[in-house]
Amino acid sequence: MKLLEVKNLKVFFPIKDKLFGKPTKFVKAVNNVSFEVEKGEIFSIVGESGSGKSTIALALMGIHERNGGSIIFNGAEVNQEDFKTLRRKIQIVFQDPDSSLDPRKRIKEIIAEGLRVHRVGDKAFIDEKVRDIVEKVGLTVDTLRKYPHELSGGQKQRVGIARALVLEPELIILDEPTASLDVSIQAQILNLLVDLQEALGLTYILITHDLKLVEHISDRTLVMYLGKVMEMGETKQIMNKPLHPYTKALIDSVPVPNPEKRNENEEILTGEIPSPLNPPEGCPFKTRCKYRMELCSKEPKSIKLENRVVFCHLYESKNLEV
Ligand code: SF4
Repeated sequence: MKLLEVKNLKVFFPIKDKLFGKPTKFVKAVNNVSFEVEKGEIFSIVGESGSGKSTIALALMGIHERNGGSIIFNGAEVNQEDFKTLRRKIQIVFQDPDSSLDPRKRIKEIIAEGLRVHRVGDKAFIDEKVRDIVEKVGLTVDTLRKYPHELSGGQKQRVGIARALVLEPELIILDEPTASLDVSIQAQILNLLVDLQEALGLTYILITHDLKLVEHISDRTLVMYLGKVMEMGETKQIMNKPLHPYTKALIDSVPVPNPEKRNENEEILTGEIPSPLNPPEGCPFKTRCKYRMELCSKEPKSIKLENRVVFCHLYESKNLEV
């Protein structure tokens, strides 16, 4: 059952030469992106920084206004003014718990804030709910009296997760949830997120650049580059046999313990992602793609192949295996 449908989403940021002048250019941070999320699944959006994945997260929270396209949640079209009421149903866990938790508030106030804002229950209900949720994320009730600076990085991220869970949302967006944590803590937070998803039947959108994380927990994956979709399908299929040259390069670029043992067919991603202010004409990946051809100066269309969607001329012209 579909929980979320995103159709042709566009989020553009205006660039002005003069402070009060009209915009002379637009950064197309998200350009014509479409995807669907099923209830109870973990859907990942991956790409390098600057690919537009976090902008999608903020557009789904109503923090960035969209310039085009539609968002349908539980079968109903969502307009910008609807996001206030939707906040209860769509929650986000940010990458950096240090900057997302108010240092002046005790943990109890931080977790309870959403319930108070949305006027959910009386004081006794809120106290019980907060105690219950803090234990669900693996913290002791003792933690509720503390301030964020008294907690470790992993404990702070557990508070971030508790704050998102307390409103019993239908969708949780995880924006690089383990990126700012020590490696030893990352696995604990990851296991917690998976356990909670299974126990509570949650739906996650995972925003990350970490393909190992995606491979480990997600059902389906969307690969983005310079604001556009490159490939989308089941995670296992994508990781085992990527079709798009960018997906393959991303997978091949994952660090390995012994780089000398790399397979000679691997294609490490080289060069920088172009400026989103001045993206290449046609295929956005063409400046870094070893398969580029004349046709690539035209924008690739969406092609359905092997149960997934891919945007690349290779599959339009000659079905070349990458
Ligand atoms: Fe490479 Fe062309 Fe495919 Fe783009 S469309 S990924 S440049 S082959």
